Amino acid sequence: MTRAAHSHRDLDDLIACPTCDALYRVHAPQNGERAVCARCHTVLIAPVEGAIFRIVALALAILILLITALFMPFLKIEANGLSNATSIYEAALSFSKAHMVALSVGVMALIIFVPIARALLLIYVLGPLMIGRPPLPAARAAFRLSEDLRPWSMAEIFVLGVGVALVKVADLARVELGAAFWLFAALVVVSILQDGTLCRWSVWHALEEAGPEEAEAGISQDDAVRDVAHG
Ligand SMILES: [Zn+2]
Repeated sequence: MTRAAHSHRDLDDLIACPTCDALYRVHAPQNGERAVCARCHTVLIAPVEGAIFRIVALALAILILLITALFMPFLKIEANGLSNATSIYEAALSFSKAHMVALSVGVMALIIFVPIARALLLIYVLGPLMIGRPPLPAARAAFRLSEDLRPWSMAEIFVLGVGVALVKVADLARVELGAAFWLFAALVVVSILQDGTLCRWSVWHALEEAGPEEAEAGISQDDAVRDVAHG
């Protein structure tokens, strides 16, 4: 074994706490157990029984919820005998009429397209593992992209924002919540469930076990360290 290959092996056994950078040698916990940073109590590894199947199922649920919510009525507002119902899709289009294209594109991206992209990436990465097949090409890059997109997936924040805004509007007009609002509310619950099930370390580990060919294709040690540090 060459020296480079040897130190790569060594790095594989290390895990860094994403919060305080403490380094640990990995002893993979059993399903249901958790590895916690001794210094700052950040959860490092938390494998869940049947996690891959659950994450893929929840990603599918997110896809269906988002695509349906896009075209369903979101709100109906009544004031002085006038009423208006609108979907998110129509709301975005009305922005573009008012020369606020950038805003409408931005809002649609954060609340619809980024969450859809994340769900598709997770299905792409974990779908093959779920049925015991080797990962598809660039599965690691896809998983890294999905993790990078995570802070930009704002469907939940959107629901909270709408909720707060409605408290104000409710004084001025009669507001009826449409089906899309409840779909978004369901989305918040599904996203929380998915986040609680998704153990990053376990996914990286599963990808490594299932397909070492990408490591041989020249993944640098810096990349390996960064992957571990991302948890
Ligand atoms: Zn820590």
